[in-house]
Amino acid sequence: MTAPPILSPRMRGIKASPASVLRRRARELRATGRDIIELSSGNLDFPTPDHVIAAAHDAALRGETRYTDVDGTPELKQAVQAALLRDHHLDYRPDEIVITNGSTQALFNALLATLAPADEVIIPAPYWAPYLDQVRLAGGTPVVVPCAQNNGFKLRAEDLQAAISPRTRWIVLNNPVNPSGALYSREDLSEIAAVLLRHPDIWVLADGLYEHIVFNGTPAPTLAEIEPRLKPRTLTVSGLAKSYAMMGWRIGYAAGPAALIREIITIQSQTTSGASSISQAAAVAALDGAQDVLTERAAILRARRDRFAELLNECAGLSCVPPEGTFYLLVNCAGVIGKRAPDGKVIATDRDFSAYLLEQADVAVFPGEDLGLSPHIRVSFANPSATIEEAARRSKRACEALQ
Ligand code: PMP
Repeated sequence: MTAPPILSPRMRGIKASPASVLRRRARELRATGRDIIELSSGNLDFPTPDHVIAAAHDAALRGETRYTDVDGTPELKQAVQAALLRDHHLDYRPDEIVITNGSTQALFNALLATLAPADEVIIPAPYWAPYLDQVRLAGGTPVVVPCAQNNGFKLRAEDLQAAISPRTRWIVLNNPVNPSGALYSREDLSEIAAVLLRHPDIWVLADGLYEHIVFNGTPAPTLAEIEPRLKPRTLTVSGLAKSYAMMGWRIGYAAGPAALIREIITIQSQTTSGASSISQAAAVAALDGAQDVLTERAAILRARRDRFAELLNECAGLSCVPPEGTFYLLVNCAGVIGKRAPDGKVIATDRDFSAYLLEQADVAVFPGEDLGLSPHIRVSFANPSATIEEAARRSKRACEALQ
């Protein structure tokens, strides 16, 4: 007997996130005994700081093991409020803040709460892949706007203007950008703000998840701080994952107008009931504690970035420019496209090249096709220096083996 049909029409065209697929493939290969170097993941190799882990332990022992308020514990909301003020001079009240299961959920709930069929969401490319399917799942239509390499992969005001239609509901502004590492300066954001001020019906989804992974010492600016007139229609989203190496703790947050935050909380109340109590206690310690860890780790990442970029630029057919933020290098691989691998297969796309590196060189990278920019690959330098050196050696050999 066959099972009844599974899929809702909503799932048409929706795929598992590329990152999750790559993670699974790397795990499968590892299980066969292969020594896979994973440059494809969004995980940092740093541990969560000790005092943060201790706070989680203490909270659990204290009995903070029950459901919390759906919108987050008052302590964590207060810590987020203080962090937004400290880092961005942004003043949000507690009823303008919601704690979520990672920033992923903040983004999705916002889209789910607001999009009607045929509503459009402007997404600059290259992009974090889930934005697209989140928009589709919420019933909207992603409108991808390519950002030129000669503009540092940043959205130009005129390209934004040209992409706006009467159906535009949101624009996604990620700063710094996964995957390009581009960092929008205050001036860059002002130019974008000037366009948005002319279009009062558009909301801004400002995703600052990597705001502290920057190499100039100050957190990446976010739109609401640059243009207060846009604050009433901006959702400022961030999380603990990258700043404090807390990927698995699943804590994110959104701050914005109370009316929108209320809708996000309503969805959360019906779907997840809110974030983990233990993780929230840990997040308070991370946000309220000493912040030296941010600059210390950024300095380590900066050195790795420079070394990895230097090594990859020695690989035949590859080129990259060290980015100003995030822990990713976006590597142009135009020089390997059209070449033939030792097994006779032609490398026709960056997906082919990624598959070649994984299957033949045991290096997992992210294909640009899934990031809206080809022919490129994205590699992470949030790995120990020895791993980076070895990954570069393997990549160099693999590139040299192409004809
Ligand atoms: N935004 C961007 C740009 C990301 O790269 C990620 C994860 N890598 C997220 C949001 C979601 O992260 P999390 O749910 O762990 O906060």
